[in-house]
Amino acid sequence: GGSARMAAISAVTNYKPSAPAMNFLETPTQELFCANVFSKSVMKDRLPKPIFKSLMKTIETGEKLDTTVADYVASAMKDWAIEKGATHYAHVFYPLTGFTAEKHDSFLSPDGSGSAIAEFSGSQLIQGEPDGSSFPSGGIRQTFEARGYTAWDVTSPAYIMENPNGTTLCIPTAFVSWTGEALDKKTPVLRSMQALNKQAQRILSLFGHTDGAMVSSTAGPEQEYFLVDRNFFFARPDLLNAGRTLFGAQPPKGQEFDDHYFGAIPDRVLAFMLETERELFKLGIPVKTRHNEVAPGQYEIAPMFEFANVATDHQQLVMITLKRVAEKYGMACLIHEKPFAGVNGSGKHVNWSMGSASQGNLLDPGDTPHENAQFLVFCGAVIRAVHKFQGLLRAVVASASNDHRLGANEAPPAIISIFLGTQLADVFEQIKGGGASSSLPKGTLEIGADVLPPLPKDAGDRNRTSPFAFTGNRFEFRAVGSNQSIAGPLVAMNTIVAESLDYCATKLEEATGGDSSKLNGAIQKLLTDIINEHGAVVFNGDGYSEEWHQEAEKRGLLNLKTTADALPFLEKPEVKDLFTKYGVLSERELESRLEIYLEQYCKSISVETKLTVEIARTMIFPASIRYQNELASTCANLQALGYDFDKDTLDKMTTLVKSLQDSVATLEAAAAKADEIECWHKKANACCYDVLPAMNEVRKYADELEGYVADDLWPLPTYQEMLFIR
Ligand code: ADP
Ligand code: MG
Repeated sequence: GGSARMAAISAVTNYKPSAPAMNFLETPTQELFCANVFSKSVMKDRLPKPIFKSLMKTIETGEKLDTTVADYVASAMKDWAIEKGATHYAHVFYPLTGFTAEKHDSFLSPDGSGSAIAEFSGSQLIQGEPDGSSFPSGGIRQTFEARGYTAWDVTSPAYIMENPNGTTLCIPTAFVSWTGEALDKKTPVLRSMQALNKQAQRILSLFGHTDGAMVSSTAGPEQEYFLVDRNFFFARPDLLNAGRTLFGAQPPKGQEFDDHYFGAIPDRVLAFMLETERELFKLGIPVKTRHNEVAPGQYEIAPMFEFANVATDHQQLVMITLKRVAEKYGMACLIHEKPFAGVNGSGKHVNWSMGSASQGNLLDPGDTPHENAQFLVFCGAVIRAVHKFQGLLRAVVASASNDHRLGANEAPPAIISIFLGTQLADVFEQIKGGGASSSLPKGTLEIGADVLPPLPKDAGDRNRTSPFAFTGNRFEFRAVGSNQSIAGPLVAMNTIVAESLDYCATKLEEATGGDSSKLNGAIQKLLTDIINEHGAVVFNGDGYSEEWHQEAEKRGLLNLKTTADALPFLEKPEVKDLFTKYGVLSERELESRLEIYLEQYCKSISVETKLTVEIARTMIFPASIRYQNELASTCANLQALGYDFDKDTLDKMTTLVKSLQDSVATLEAAAAKADEIECWHKKANACCYDVLPAMNEVRKYADELEGYVADDLWPLPTYQEMLFIR
């Protein structure tokens, strides 16, 4: 019966740390920063000067890598890694599943005379060959030619991973097929950054900035997660295998009790946070944890922003490290978007901007009319991009798990809109020539002459209901799911903004014909056009309200509620054109992604279905009939003795058990039908509109049974237990 659950509760309440507390004074955190990174300063120390210079040139300007350089770098890297205790090296890559994969190799090679020498050459650094057959390629690579290869990404630093099982030199790589197609999430990020740079340079040169300093996109992802005790985690097959609870009645004590604050953090959670930060610091990831998320047991960790490609790699390391360190403290870190129904979900707010070494942050409004004008062009380009490609932005955050969060009244709605804040929205209203909502005089803002009003550097939460918010000097894409790689969202943002900057640059170049005195007038016209054509995407109000849903529909904005609705936008002609035109994804690469994401969606619903059936049948049904039997025999015994016994509970139990059985059968039938469908689009629709509702029915009866069955018989740790017992 409930013995596994009872054992879990007892184990949790008797938790004792297995390792002594860490001594954080021994090595101050500052000294640890980058301790395990083959950083610029390590390279400077260890590489001959010309080699170092040549490598930096590649890293900073994207210039092609000189292959003789690679041998020197490999040798220095190997020596450094071996000094740090590494025995193996791994090419780390990011397959389309969104996870992180590694191919490990030993440094040691037999020397032919019975001993071994440590070896690591430039060619081993530059290129590796994982057995790619187990990674999805969406038809690009047939399994018989499974040998894609990994290529060293010089722009992301190598690092050491310390692990109880050994220490490894990790080399961030791109994963591509022999025909040159991207099989991973990293390659398009790099390509999209190049596209963005190219178009941003054209705008900058219109403003007289022709130094050519590379414009890079920057990203700062805020990661939310839950912590639960591992004993509970292992007593819940659904959490263990699907990452979320498929059953569980609402706790009597919900998140409305605001007792989840810093002071209430148990020692081991605090120790976990400190150690996580410390581990990430060693990897050169400057993180800060937060303690006050909305739900009980929910927390957040965010790094300082970095270049988008590095931030993407680091984000993967953050997720891995959270999970690993949690384990050490007897907890499971849940990164799923909605581990608990009815409880606040987890997102990943991706803060995004672009900037260069000489120009700084291009989404910073600046203080002078000249800087303001340039900012408005970049900002206008983003507004146009988000409006034009709202379907794509929705598609890149689509997943089975994120569907449970988007559109619930805690996360942004599935409608993509932009929050500009009152001041900036007013500025655009004035450029447009006035508007009802403008509190400032109409049509008075003259580009290049007037100074913008001070825009508040937003604390981020003023309007949490917007999926895409301007926060003073960057945009924050909040619809991203906590469990997703940020690569897809960054690729989309970089590319759509590149397209928009291309449009703006072309318009401005045409209008000025090289005469810079015409620039301000040309910008005025450009921005007026943009706000007239694309202003519908700007919305500063409450994104949760019913009025917004109606208003958005009137404005012609998309409202793609589910992954099944959103993913098909990846194959819209304008999306294909976008990615091919800027060399970010070929048609084949894009099609392969769509197929893989549809497949992943169906697979995760299929896994949840199997778990739902299994748990309902082997845990909830048996517990229920035991209790039913207990009630029945009590009733029979008492009646035999001439007592009255109120049969209400027994009647209710009997109805619920029958409904549970029937709903399981319906779910199985719906799943079997979906299984037979071959077209991924149709399968996804069946999963979404037939299987998921059937799954919810099973849950409904099971959760109701939880309110009747004797507590000592209930097999699954309850919401109350998982969220409140530490
Ligand atoms: P909040 O959004 O709750 O105010 P923070 O200000 O702590 O949270 O975090 C915002 C994130 O935005 C941080 O990761 C920060 O480094 C990042 N950020 C700040 N400036 C930029 C920028 N120019 N480009 C990208 N990310 C940025
Ligand atoms: Mg934020």
